Amino acid sequence: MPTSACRILLGVLLAAALPRVASAEWYERTEAIMGTRVYVQLWAQDEARGNECIDAVMGEMRRIDELMSHYKPESQLSQINARANREPVQVDKELFDLIKLSTHYSQITEGAFDITYASVGYLYNFPGHVHPNEAQIKDALPAVNWRNMLLDEAHHTVRFEHPGMRIDLGGIGKGYAVDRGIDILKARGIEHAVVTAGGDTRILGDHMGRPWLVAIRHPDNPQKVVTRIPLSDSAMSTSGDYERFFDENGVRYHHIIDPHTGHSASKVRSATILAPTATQTDGMSKTAFVLGAEKALEIINRMPEYDAVFVTPEGHVLYSNGLRPPNPRPEPAATGKDSPGSP
Ligand code: ADP
Ligand code: MG
Repeated sequence: MPTSACRILLGVLLAAALPRVASAEWYERTEAIMGTRVYVQLWAQDEARGNECIDAVMGEMRRIDELMSHYKPESQLSQINARANREPVQVDKELFDLIKLSTHYSQITEGAFDITYASVGYLYNFPGHVHPNEAQIKDALPAVNWRNMLLDEAHHTVRFEHPGMRIDLGGIGKGYAVDRGIDILKARGIEHAVVTAGGDTRILGDHMGRPWLVAIRHPDNPQKVVTRIPLSDSAMSTSGDYERFFDENGVRYHHIIDPHTGHSASKVRSATILAPTATQTDGMSKTAFVLGAEKALEIINRMPEYDAVFVTPEGHVLYSNGLRPPNPRPEPAATGKDSPGSP
């Protein structure tokens, strides 16, 4: 064998015999899935492992999209919309459970979150600058009511009691997909990661011993940050009126619809929710947006797992109690003439 060939062979054998030099670092990727931008960043021992983990998360996102997209005619969700007003439609347990969970959010929010909003929501087309007129809304609105969706737990079937009813999981599906992504990473032994789909983010672990800082953007200027929230091992979702919208005669038509009126909700410019899982934060961010800061804070401040940040139409930033700075030291109570100024 010529010497040069020997050297190459020796090199190959040595490379195979030596332990691979570990290059633990952050690996990241962005892909377009579920009609939005999916981003994964994680800390892995080497590039092959980093890529394999990211592939698994992206694959899971695509699988969920195939099941739940209302744009894809062959998805199970589209099958429900096509047939459930005539007969019970059987679906996978996973989809059934998410629909059932959605009705739980409807219940605790008095219908501010309602996947049957789509019965009127389908009349909007934001890129095409199309919105329904008052007569169309009046016709469609009676079909919006989660209570008219019959869920059969034993057979995993969904049946609509109103002929015009439609559902859309756009308000909770991305949060669910983010949680599934985190589950997949945990099962593979990953300890530090961020998974984002649209406005929904979940953080696994921390970032080099410190929390991640997740920004809330200014409603009118994507470059400007209103505030940054430190996060580790938790989720955050923002719903804003600047994501999918058009303006007409001074009115902003956007994708978060008040199920009680059929109009785009307008009490706040953005609502951000923090909680342990992205399914929770995604569902509650629409709710908070529809209810507005005052009503939503009443609810959030009673739920220990949740926190919230609002940007109001006037540009004020409002926080739930859990995010407020601690109270200043209480003034000593005035008990008599010696009290004021006493040490
Ligand atoms: P993103 O889709 O970027 O995560 P959001 O979390 O704010 O943004 O979700 C907006 C989506 O929620 C809408 O596009 C629509 O599919 C759905 N939606 C809008 N209004 C409601 C509502 N009142 N209840 C449930 N889902 C809603
Ligand atoms: Mg969302």
